Amino acid sequence: MKQEILSQIPAVNDLLAAEFGQRLVEDYSHQLVVDAIRKITAKLREEVLATAEEELEAKEFDLSSQVILKQVKDYLEKEDRLILSPAVNATGVVLHTNLGRSLLSDKAQQAVIDVADNYSTLEVDVATGERGSRYNNIKEILAELTGAEDCLVVNNNAAAVLLALSSLASGKEVIISRGQLVEIGGSFRVPDVMERSGAKLVEVGSTNKVHLRDYQEAITEETALLLKVHTSNYKILGFTKDVKPAELVGLARQNDLPVFEDLGSGIFVDLTGDGLSYEPTVQESLEAGVDVVTFSGDKLLGGPQAGIIVGKQEYIEEMKRHPLTRALRIDKFSLAALEATLKEYRDLERAKEKIPTLRMLAISPEELKQNAEELLSQLSQVVSEDFELNLRAGISQVGGGSFPLEELTTYVIELRHEQLSTEELAAKLRANYPPIFTRIANDAVVFDLRTIQQQDYQIIVEAVDKFV
Ligand SMILES: *Cc1c(COP(=O)(O)O)cnc(C)c1O
Repeated sequence: MKQEILSQIPAVNDLLAAEFGQRLVEDYSHQLVVDAIRKITAKLREEVLATAEEELEAKEFDLSSQVILKQVKDYLEKEDRLILSPAVNATGVVLHTNLGRSLLSDKAQQAVIDVADNYSTLEVDVATGERGSRYNNIKEILAELTGAEDCLVVNNNAAAVLLALSSLASGKEVIISRGQLVEIGGSFRVPDVMERSGAKLVEVGSTNKVHLRDYQEAITEETALLLKVHTSNYKILGFTKDVKPAELVGLARQNDLPVFEDLGSGIFVDLTGDGLSYEPTVQESLEAGVDVVTFSGDKLLGGPQAGIIVGKQEYIEEMKRHPLTRALRIDKFSLAALEATLKEYRDLERAKEKIPTLRMLAISPEELKQNAEELLSQLSQVVSEDFELNLRAGISQVGGGSFPLEELTTYVIELRHEQLSTEELAAKLRANYPPIFTRIANDAVVFDLRTIQQQDYQIIVEAVDKFV
């Protein structure tokens, strides 16, 4: 019996010659299809051999070419998928670091494709044909948007902080308020970065209060700069006192020292009109006279991963000459996407439409409710009676260590199942391709409409449809 079943498995050549097999060869290649056929038929053979004689009949092995080639196709498709794949972010966390932080605007996406598909003007002066600066493309637009004299961009903001401290304060002292010894995710701690840079930390004030005189008393011959770190991922509330950037700048000037501010998120737009709380902008820091400001490209700015450094030319020049600059340098794809993103900011209202991060932050509860109703109606059509669906208002978070206390009103769909636990439901959604990430709350899987994109509706509905 076993031998009889085994002999029914079609030969590799017959599978290749079938119409379906030919189509696969066209889509992949002869070699890949042959390899896949061998894998699948070997697995079938093993399955047959591992089955007890008396169970063979009940198993009903389907060994038709069509069925085997369908398995070959599924296998090839799966092998072809990238492990770093698109995902659906239904968590409502806009700047979800683990899901890639910011999405790019259409123009920024196109910019990446253009430099990927062509040689580019990355480091060439088009007028002379000589070697040019890698940062040429963003210098003017950053000056226009922030008023900065000069700029430099590196791999990310952590790199920007390391570079600034290494080139401006190595072997010397840096004065910082105790309340600003920030740790952000992924083990980036201000004191550790400082140590790596060779600068010596001089902490002043207490956790909740720092006065200008605290800085003043700490200034010595060894002081290289005054550092301000924006507490972007936490807030110190209650009995507090901080020193304003302008006051710090005044003190620094008297002592012929620069002020460096790590702004973290780095925003150009005041979003208070869109229901968010106040967050200091890059322009405000520079206007206050801060000499060097660093911020991330992929947080509230809504661009690619990047560490943007703006400020006085003398300090930026010093950083450009530092050997670390080469090691930390930004790649051409991010640089292209950054220029395109920055150019969207020439019209702030348009930027809020075009830049996905800003759009998701500013989207109105009414629109979110409408979208939730749409998703609810689509899901209702596919779920069995074992499911329970519910639309309710909820709260979404900004994420990425930005606006830590912000509670954004949103609308969500809750999904429950009679037999499956919420963890099982969430795991099934993650096992989908593309994987779907949700929140768990109220003993339900929650889809938050704030971060669900237009193309995600169908993916979610099809994934849930497959559960039954
Ligand atoms: C996020 C953040 C950083 C690190 O920025 P990356 O771009 O993620 O490297 C540094 N400092 C502060 C204050 C931050 O909020």
